[in-house]
Amino acid sequence: MSSPEGYAPRDGVLEEQTWPAMRDGDWPVALVPFGATEPHNTHLPYGTDTIMGREVAARVAAACAAQGVRVVALPAVPFGVNTTQLDLRFTINIMPSTQLALLRDVVKSLEPHGVRALVLLNAHGGNELRALVRELQPSTPIVLSIVNWWQAGDHGVFESAGDHAGELETAAIMHVAPHLVVPDRNTWGDGHAKASVFDGVRSGWAWMPRRWTQVTADTGVGNPREATAEKGAAFVAQAVERIAAFCVQLAGADPNAMWADP
Ligand SMILES: [Zn+2]
Repeated sequence: MSSPEGYAPRDGVLEEQTWPAMRDGDWPVALVPFGATEPHNTHLPYGTDTIMGREVAARVAAACAAQGVRVVALPAVPFGVNTTQLDLRFTINIMPSTQLALLRDVVKSLEPHGVRALVLLNAHGGNELRALVRELQPSTPIVLSIVNWWQAGDHGVFESAGDHAGELETAAIMHVAPHLVVPDRNTWGDGHAKASVFDGVRSGWAWMPRRWTQVTADTGVGNPREATAEKGAAFVAQAVERIAAFCVQLAGADPNAMWADP
């Protein structure tokens, strides 16, 4: 919706919408983006994950609206779990237990308003939301699910998608917020990350959190050099399309018949 005066709240984006726009009718699905506040190499902003979660949620809501399904995109949670990055200045950590308390309150707030499914739209690897969903699902009729937005598109568009502030994330921000990417690529860190000294961790069957400042010199994990706004646009569009299709399916799903033989 737009007008000559420039009024243009996006469909379903709660922080932009008025009460009358949201008050009536059926809103079967809600999205809550989970971001983070942490350094992203030397060229992306602290809010990268929050910006991406918020933007993907807004685009998913618009894509669903275009298919006649109302999806409300809630405001993004700007802080994430960063317990092993606290020696990096102005990283703001919230504990998994805080995240659980917050999510419980969000779910309880949504219950009286007809929302039948809530998608946790995650944008930060340190947010391990499964344990939260496992704890909360038995106490709410709202169907809870998790989407890591960066896994919803095809990584084949990238030379090397990378992990943190790498090619994927850099391309995505170049697409959605180009004014926030440091323009001189020569100043970007190469995102080199050290491998674990443990065989089991390198093989993937053992796990321990990374002490960020021991792993990487520039805070990045993954080389951003090959990132372009075009790759970001292609990847984000594909992720949005897939997540929107998931939301449309959720909107029509019967909570008692969500598993079936193929
Ligand atoms: Zn990130």
